[in-house]
Amino acid sequence: MEEKKSLKITLIFTICFFVFIVSFFSVWKVSLSEKRVSASADSEKIKITASFYPIYIMLLNLTDGIDDVEVSLLAPAETGCLHDYQLTTGDMKLIEKCDILVVNGSGMEDFFDKAFSLKKNSVVVASDGFKPFDGNPHVWVSVSGAIYEVQKITEGLCSLDSKNSESYKKNYLIYIEKLNALEQKMKTSLAPFAGKKIITFHEAFPYFAKEFGFEISAVIEQEPGTVPSAKELAKIIESIKSVTNRGEEVALFAEPQYSSSVAKIISNETGLSVYELDPCVNGQLEKNAYIEGMEKNLSVLMNAFSEEKK
Ligand SMILES: [Zn+2]
Repeated sequence: MEEKKSLKITLIFTICFFVFIVSFFSVWKVSLSEKRVSASADSEKIKITASFYPIYIMLLNLTDGIDDVEVSLLAPAETGCLHDYQLTTGDMKLIEKCDILVVNGSGMEDFFDKAFSLKKNSVVVASDGFKPFDGNPHVWVSVSGAIYEVQKITEGLCSLDSKNSESYKKNYLIYIEKLNALEQKMKTSLAPFAGKKIITFHEAFPYFAKEFGFEISAVIEQEPGTVPSAKELAKIIESIKSVTNRGEEVALFAEPQYSSSVAKIISNETGLSVYELDPCVNGQLEKNAYIEGMEKNLSVLMNAFSEEKK
């Protein structure tokens, strides 16, 4: 009887000990894996890559002050538009490494087809849903287009990196307020010049012209680098002369990113001054670069139209 009781106690003790050991190791394992996750979260930042400069500036604003996010730029800042850009091996590596790839879309990154398929569900297309004119990708060149793209990027970032969504939304509100103020200021200041004719260097300004009521009389190079033939140049000069001969004003613009030699030929033939209008495709890697670029465009336009009046 005594022996049976002792056996029972030993059995109960063994079971309790076994349960304790199993529970202890389970708790220890869970705590260890939690520690690992938190350690890797500390060292692993969310890597966001912008295809080119205007998108990068938007991302600088949207990720401002968010510590676990790292923004990089694919095409070097001095590239300008990506019309003839060739992806390098380094670019492909950057694309593979990033967690979120943000592109303009609407044909600006045609060379990206392969990269798109690489990233599948982690690509944010800033112009997604925007209705382009003739497939023109220069959406950000109008301030309302930039606002559209900033909103699309914010939506994309919030869905792909939900942990930081509140911070993205907070930054969005701050940047949008600045962009809205810029749009309003430009619309008010340029209202007296609505209907003015402009000649732009490349096909980057249709949205800008529509926003501020300008009419594009001619475009010098459809894409940067496609220098007009002698026949095309003669046609541009002829169309300018027919406008000025009617006593109408037209302002001639080059772009700071590209050689203004063709614009100078047109200037010599027509007597028009050459001004610079910036499509904001390169410049300083600063949060306010786009706003400063547009402010400069505003003063250049006001100056150009005031000069034309003289
Ligand atoms: Zn362009």
